[in-house]
Amino acid sequence: MDLASRLAEVDARIADAARAAGRDPAELTRIVVTKFHPASLVEQLYDLGVRDVGENRQQELTDKRGRVRDLPGLTWHFIGQAQTNKAKAIRAAASVVHSVDRHRLADALDAAGGDGAPSLDILVQINLTDDPKRGGVAPSDLRSLAEHVIGCPTLRLRGVMAVAPLEEPPAPAFERLREYADLVRELEPSATWISAGMTGDFAEAIAAGATHLRIGTAITGPRPVHG
Ligand SMILES: *Cc1c(COP(=O)(O)O)cnc(C)c1O
Repeated sequence: MDLASRLAEVDARIADAARAAGRDPAELTRIVVTKFHPASLVEQLYDLGVRDVGENRQQELTDKRGRVRDLPGLTWHFIGQAQTNKAKAIRAAASVVHSVDRHRLADALDAAGGDGAPSLDILVQINLTDDPKRGGVAPSDLRSLAEHVIGCPTLRLRGVMAVAPLEEPPAPAFERLREYADLVRELEPSATWISAGMTGDFAEAIAAGATHLRIGTAITGPRPVHG
């Protein structure tokens, strides 16, 4: 299958999962994760109508943005772990950051904004496991982090993000995520986004209310091996 067919097939599966959950497929944003693939893939996806792409490493994001031709209306999402000293580069290249998991990272992204910069859309990443190394804020610290982001003048809190645990089926984990999303929405009513669902679990994520899907291999094919 070629890229166009894989994209069409995934979109059909997204629409099926949405209808099965009683949801309108039009309310879902499908982000194509292009990590490890060349910048030319972003251009091919754009030509097929894709307007949201995701990268998980700052260096690759910055390089790729510099290589692609001007693609009006394309939104770059940063979805990976971020070091505070990369905040400026991330902010220069992405307009949504899905992976804010600590106060200091929020502060660094905020400070990188500068006067008159458009506000940066932020999702707070939540750890759905008990393993602190897995990335994301612990649910017990979620309220404090969300309040902190809300208080950052150049950041706009849009919602929550999570990756399904490996050691548990995705559906109950995404149900917990939905509860955390409700908590955040009580603090900031416009923070309605739930970023969840990858190649292996996007149907479960849609059933649990995901609004933003981050799908890589099902659309791009296997990632090239990196040395
Ligand atoms: C790579 C990645 C994805 C996409 O994963 P696939 O299984 O290829 O769909 C989604 N989210 C994050 C945070 C990733 O790093």
